[in-house]
Amino acid sequence: MPDADTPSRRGLVILYTGNGKGKTTAALGLVMRAWGHGLRCCVIQFIKSERGRWGETRAAERMGIAWHALGAGFTWQSENLEHDRARAQEGWTLAQTEILSGNHDLIVLDEFTYPLRYGWLDAGEVVAWLRDHRPPEMHLVITGRDAVDELMALSDLVTEMCAIKHPYDTGLAAQRGIEF
Ligand code: ATP
Ligand code: MG
Repeated sequence: MPDADTPSRRGLVILYTGNGKGKTTAALGLVMRAWGHGLRCCVIQFIKSERGRWGETRAAERMGIAWHALGAGFTWQSENLEHDRARAQEGWTLAQTEILSGNHDLIVLDEFTYPLRYGWLDAGEVVAWLRDHRPPEMHLVITGRDAVDELMALSDLVTEMCAIKHPYDTGLAAQRGIEF
Protein backbone atom coordinates (compact mmCIF):
# COMPACT_ATOMS: atom_id res chain seq x y z
CA MET A 1 0.00 0.00 0.00
CA PRO A 2 1.51 3.39 -0.95
CA ASP A 3 1.99 5.76 1.96
CA ALA A 4 0.75 9.35 2.20
CA ASP A 5 3.98 10.68 0.67
CA THR A 6 3.59 8.74 -2.54
CA PRO A 7 5.12 10.90 -5.31
CA SER A 8 2.28 10.14 -7.71
CA ARG A 9 -0.31 12.10 -5.78
CA ARG A 10 -2.87 13.73 -8.03
CA GLY A 11 -6.14 15.29 -6.99
CA LEU A 12 -9.26 13.47 -8.12
CA VAL A 13 -12.77 14.67 -8.81
CA ILE A 14 -15.10 12.08 -7.30
CA LEU A 15 -18.85 12.06 -7.88
CA TYR A 16 -21.40 10.03 -5.93
CA THR A 17 -24.79 10.24 -7.59
CA GLY A 18 -27.93 8.13 -8.10
CA ASN A 19 -31.13 7.48 -6.18
CA GLY A 20 -29.80 5.01 -3.61
CA LYS A 21 -28.78 5.91 -0.08
CA GLY A 22 -25.08 6.28 0.62
CA LYS A 23 -23.82 9.27 -1.36
CA THR A 24 -23.13 11.60 1.53
CA THR A 25 -22.06 8.64 3.67
CA ALA A 26 -19.48 7.63 1.05
CA ALA A 27 -18.14 11.18 0.85
CA LEU A 28 -17.78 11.29 4.64
CA GLY A 29 -16.11 7.90 4.59
CA LEU A 30 -13.46 9.38 2.30
CA VAL A 31 -13.09 12.33 4.65
CA MET A 32 -12.38 9.90 7.48
CA ARG A 33 -9.86 7.96 5.40
CA ALA A 34 -8.11 11.13 4.25
CA TRP A 35 -8.13 12.63 7.75
CA GLY A 36 -6.41 9.49 9.01
CA HIS A 37 -3.51 10.30 6.68
CA GLY A 38 -3.36 13.87 7.90
CA LEU A 39 -5.04 15.37 4.85
CA ARG A 40 -6.83 18.61 5.63
CA CYS A 41 -10.53 18.22 4.87
CA CYS A 42 -13.39 20.65 4.39
CA VAL A 43 -17.08 19.89 3.94
CA ILE A 44 -19.57 22.32 2.39
CA GLN A 45 -23.19 21.24 2.55
CA PHE A 46 -25.47 22.91 0.05
CA ILE A 47 -28.86 21.76 1.26
CA LYS A 48 -28.71 20.59 4.88
CA SER A 49 -29.90 22.79 7.71
CA GLU A 50 -27.22 24.84 9.43
CA ARG A 51 -28.88 24.12 12.76
CA GLY A 52 -28.52 20.38 12.38
CA ARG A 53 -26.49 18.57 15.02
CA TRP A 54 -25.99 15.49 12.91
CA GLY A 55 -23.67 12.73 14.01
CA GLU A 56 -21.26 13.80 11.31
CA THR A 57 -21.15 17.45 12.38
CA ARG A 58 -20.46 16.35 15.95
CA ALA A 59 -17.64 14.11 14.73
CA ALA A 60 -16.23 16.87 12.51
CA GLU A 61 -16.06 19.24 15.47
CA ARG A 62 -14.06 16.73 17.47
CA MET A 63 -11.82 15.90 14.51
CA GLY A 64 -11.17 19.55 13.69
CA ILE A 65 -12.64 19.30 10.20
CA ALA A 66 -13.79 22.56 8.58
CA TRP A 67 -17.56 22.36 8.05
CA HIS A 68 -19.97 24.80 6.42
CA ALA A 69 -23.71 24.32 5.96
CA LEU A 70 -25.68 26.65 3.76
CA GLY A 71 -28.84 25.70 5.44
CA ALA A 72 -32.29 24.85 4.24
CA GLY A 73 -32.41 28.11 2.32
CA PHE A 74 -33.62 26.62 -0.94
CA THR A 75 -37.31 26.87 -1.76
CA TRP A 76 -37.40 24.52 -4.79
CA GLN A 77 -40.32 26.57 -6.13
CA SER A 78 -40.22 28.25 -9.49
CA GLU A 79 -41.59 31.55 -8.16
CA ASN A 80 -38.61 31.75 -5.81
CA LEU A 81 -36.02 31.07 -8.45
CA GLU A 82 -34.19 34.32 -7.76
CA HIS A 83 -33.94 33.47 -4.07
CA ASP A 84 -32.59 30.00 -4.86
CA ARG A 85 -30.12 31.44 -7.36
CA ALA A 86 -28.82 33.94 -4.82
CA ARG A 87 -28.49 31.26 -2.17
CA ALA A 88 -26.68 28.90 -4.54
CA GLN A 89 -24.35 31.70 -5.63
CA GLU A 90 -23.48 32.36 -1.97
CA GLY A 91 -22.54 28.71 -1.54
CA TRP A 92 -20.59 28.60 -4.75
CA THR A 93 -18.65 31.73 -3.81
CA LEU A 94 -17.78 30.09 -0.50
CA ALA A 95 -16.73 26.90 -2.30
CA GLN A 96 -14.51 28.89 -4.68
CA THR A 97 -12.88 30.69 -1.75
CA GLU A 98 -12.17 27.41 0.06
CA ILE A 99 -10.87 25.73 -3.09
CA LEU A 100 -8.41 28.56 -3.69
CA SER A 101 -7.48 29.02 -0.02
CA GLY A 102 -4.66 26.50 0.05
CA ASN A 103 -6.03 25.28 3.39
CA HIS A 104 -7.53 21.99 2.23
CA ASP A 105 -6.36 18.78 0.59
CA LEU A 106 -9.89 17.41 0.16
CA ILE A 107 -13.15 19.31 -0.19
CA VAL A 108 -16.63 17.80 -0.19
CA LEU A 109 -19.42 19.70 -1.95
CA ASP A 110 -22.39 17.80 -0.53
CA GLU A 111 -25.63 17.91 -2.55
CA PHE A 112 -23.91 20.15 -5.09
CA THR A 113 -25.60 18.43 -8.04
CA TYR A 114 -28.90 20.25 -7.37
CA PRO A 115 -27.84 23.86 -8.02
CA LEU A 116 -26.45 22.67 -11.34
CA ARG A 117 -29.38 20.43 -12.26
CA TYR A 118 -31.99 23.10 -11.42
CA GLY A 119 -30.09 25.89 -13.13
CA TRP A 120 -29.50 27.94 -9.99
CA LEU A 121 -25.89 28.02 -11.17
CA ASP A 122 -24.64 27.76 -14.74
CA ALA A 123 -23.29 24.22 -14.99
CA GLY A 124 -20.96 25.04 -17.88
CA GLU A 125 -19.40 27.97 -16.04
CA VAL A 126 -19.04 26.07 -12.78
CA VAL A 127 -17.40 23.06 -14.41
CA ALA A 128 -15.08 25.25 -16.50
CA TRP A 129 -14.04 27.12 -13.35
CA LEU A 130 -13.33 23.86 -11.52
CA ARG A 131 -11.33 22.57 -14.47
CA ASP A 132 -9.19 25.72 -14.57
CA HIS A 133 -8.83 26.55 -10.88
CA ARG A 134 -8.88 23.41 -8.76
CA PRO A 135 -5.37 22.95 -7.36
CA PRO A 136 -4.02 19.84 -9.13
CA GLU A 137 -3.31 17.98 -5.89
CA MET A 138 -6.66 18.74 -4.25
CA HIS A 139 -9.36 16.08 -4.13
CA LEU A 140 -12.91 17.25 -4.76
CA VAL A 141 -15.88 15.07 -3.80
CA ILE A 142 -19.37 15.95 -5.04
CA THR A 143 -22.63 14.27 -4.04
CA GLY A 144 -26.28 14.43 -5.06
CA ARG A 145 -28.81 12.87 -7.41
CA ASP A 146 -29.21 13.72 -11.09
CA ALA A 147 -25.69 14.90 -11.83
CA VAL A 148 -25.52 16.91 -15.05
CA ASP A 149 -23.41 15.60 -17.95
CA GLU A 150 -20.79 18.34 -17.58
CA LEU A 151 -20.10 17.16 -14.02
CA MET A 152 -19.87 13.53 -15.14
CA ALA A 153 -17.36 14.56 -17.81
CA LEU A 154 -15.22 16.47 -15.31
CA SER A 155 -15.07 13.66 -12.78
CA ASP A 156 -12.34 11.03 -12.58
CA LEU A 157 -14.54 8.68 -10.60
CA VAL A 158 -18.31 8.41 -10.85
CA THR A 159 -20.34 5.98 -8.78
CA GLU A 160 -24.09 5.75 -9.13
CA MET A 161 -25.84 4.51 -6.00
CA CYS A 162 -28.66 2.24 -7.08
CA ALA A 163 -31.71 2.01 -4.81
CA ILE A 164 -32.66 -1.63 -4.25
CA LYS A 165 -34.33 -1.42 -0.83
CA HIS A 166 -34.67 1.33 1.75
CA PRO A 167 -36.14 0.98 5.24
CA TYR A 168 -38.39 4.02 4.63
CA ASP A 169 -40.22 1.95 2.00
CA THR A 170 -41.68 -0.22 4.74
CA GLY A 171 -42.40 2.65 7.09
CA LEU A 172 -39.36 2.23 9.34
CA ALA A 173 -38.31 5.46 11.03
CA ALA A 174 -34.96 7.20 10.61
CA GLN A 175 -32.39 5.63 12.93
CA ARG A 176 -29.87 7.68 14.90
CA GLY A 177 -26.37 6.98 13.70
CA ILE A 178 -27.66 5.77 10.32
CA GLU A 179 -29.74 8.67 9.01
CA PHE A 180 -28.54 11.55 11.17
P1 ATP B 1 -26.87 9.43 3.16
O1 ATP B 1 -26.75 10.85 3.67
O2 ATP B 1 -27.59 8.57 4.15
O3 ATP B 1 -25.59 8.87 2.64
P2 ATP B 1 -27.66 10.09 0.48
O4 ATP B 1 -26.69 11.21 0.56
O5 ATP B 1 -27.35 9.02 -0.51
O6 ATP B 1 -27.89 9.47 1.91
P3 ATP B 1 -29.73 11.98 -0.17
O7 ATP B 1 -30.22 11.97 -1.56
O8 ATP B 1 -28.81 13.07 0.25
O9 ATP B 1 -29.12 10.55 0.16
O10 ATP B 1 -31.00 11.93 0.75
C1 ATP B 1 -30.90 12.08 2.12
C2 ATP B 1 -31.98 11.30 2.82
O11 ATP B 1 -32.85 10.62 1.94
C3 ATP B 1 -31.39 10.23 3.72
O12 ATP B 1 -32.04 10.28 4.93
C4 ATP B 1 -31.65 8.96 3.01
O13 ATP B 1 -31.85 7.83 3.86
C5 ATP B 1 -32.89 9.24 2.24
N1 ATP B 1 -32.85 8.41 1.06
C6 ATP B 1 -31.82 8.25 0.21
N2 ATP B 1 -32.11 7.36 -0.75
C7 ATP B 1 -33.37 6.96 -0.52
C8 ATP B 1 -34.27 6.02 -1.16
N3 ATP B 1 -33.89 5.35 -2.23
N4 ATP B 1 -35.51 5.87 -0.61
C9 ATP B 1 -35.88 6.55 0.47
N5 ATP B 1 -35.09 7.45 1.11
C10 ATP B 1 -33.85 7.64 0.64
MG1 MG C 1 -26.79 13.22 0.59
